[in-house]
Amino acid sequence: MAHDQGEQAGNDVMDAIISLAKRRGFIFQGSEIYGGLAGTWDYGPLGVALKNNVKSLWWKRFVENRDDMFGVDAAILMNQNVWKASGHVGGFSDPLVECKKCHHRFRADQLTDQQKCPDCGGSLGDVKQFNMMFQTHVGAVQDDSSVSYLRPETAQGMFVNFKNILDSQHPKLPFGLAQIGKAFRNEIAPRDFLFRAREFEQMEIEYFVKPAEWRKIFEHFVSEVQAFIKDVGLDSGKVHELEVPDGDRAHYSKRTIDFEFDWPFGRKELYGLAYRTDFDLTQHASSSKADLSYYDEETKERFIPHVIEPSFGLDRTILAILCDAYREDDLGGEKRAYLKLVPAVAPYKVAVFPLLRNKPQLVAKAEEIFRSIRKAIPAIIFDDNGNIGKRYRRQDEIGTPFCLTVDFETVEKGSGVTLRDRDSGRQERVKETELIDHLLKLSGVRTVS
Ligand code: ATP
Repeated sequence: MAHDQGEQAGNDVMDAIISLAKRRGFIFQGSEIYGGLAGTWDYGPLGVALKNNVKSLWWKRFVENRDDMFGVDAAILMNQNVWKASGHVGGFSDPLVECKKCHHRFRADQLTDQQKCPDCGGSLGDVKQFNMMFQTHVGAVQDDSSVSYLRPETAQGMFVNFKNILDSQHPKLPFGLAQIGKAFRNEIAPRDFLFRAREFEQMEIEYFVKPAEWRKIFEHFVSEVQAFIKDVGLDSGKVHELEVPDGDRAHYSKRTIDFEFDWPFGRKELYGLAYRTDFDLTQHASSSKADLSYYDEETKERFIPHVIEPSFGLDRTILAILCDAYREDDLGGEKRAYLKLVPAVAPYKVAVFPLLRNKPQLVAKAEEIFRSIRKAIPAIIFDDNGNIGKRYRRQDEIGTPFCLTVDFETVEKGSGVTLRDRDSGRQERVKETELIDHLLKLSGVRTVS
């Protein structure tokens, strides 16, 4: 009973989040006017802003703030031999079962009853392995030699460029490659909004190390993943580290930690951190015949580096942020829904209003203040639609941390503006001359100047 109630509450929260995301222009169902395409999602203006903020926090922490990390942006289509060598052609599959009666298909490992169809109660057929890569052909001829795949992970784009980075940048171990980009998996059962999609984005690092150093560097990345979770404002109390036991790990991994999140639909993977040994480079070296070894000037040794891989789902990050930030409360006797986003990820940091839209002197002053702040804080919005209460609700719903109102006192007495805090609804009066510094301090965001 308690379990069902929890499940119902989780479903209600997910419905509220999906509806807010659509209503306010964060995320829409892919190809919606044609009835949708399962497992695809389109980001609208607010979603793009949120996503770009997350990407730039990630890039800043893992690339810009370090001297040992190199950015890569590899092609999505790759030579089919990449996926043979990596093991994806042979083994990137999930167990599939089909109902003999209604012919619905399911992931066998996600069913509680392996015998009975959850949709119609019919009996289920044998479990088959279903390869999740989307296959296509490159060029005008469609034969075995033109087969290619939409990449199911960004990782391989970094392994195949390992030698290019060595030859062009001459880095010393340890060093890493970082990439943000799309990945595609023909999931048997896409579900839970952005959580399990067929097209999604990953932010991945392949960090190359001397074999003896892997333990220390693995621990370093455990704390860097934790730090990034804080950067995007997620409640670390909802994140749990699962040491993946022998037998459950991917065949190439000697150690894996899954960072699991308490989603409204249960505790499931958010990110992964894996020690992949020298598996990938060794495979690609033997398959491509390229020399993917590293020469250590100090020890005069040549060897294949080992790899630590922190792997972040970008869309799962967005979903975790929305789930964690979504709140409903009573403010001033009125019910409201709002997103308690940290300023660093909020699509807009500040909204500027004239108290009344039909008073030209208020509108002109508000526009002047809007323009002056925008130079320092570009993520700002001007709103003079509807009454002030409605504008607050709108900004609360999209997670804007601060609303700034120009009223008669601003214009007539030069006594500053009111600044309202999203979470508490509290207002303070701030002098015009101190406004930008004050906002920068409150929001903790970088200036562009
Ligand atoms: P899961 O067990 O949930 O299928 P996975 O272990 O297959 O995930 P990885 O192959 O380790 O996932 O992929 C790295 C990251 O990419 C995951 O931690 C997750 O954040 C993200 N990811 C993987 N599959 C999907 C998907 N179908 N939709 C959205 N994000 C995904």
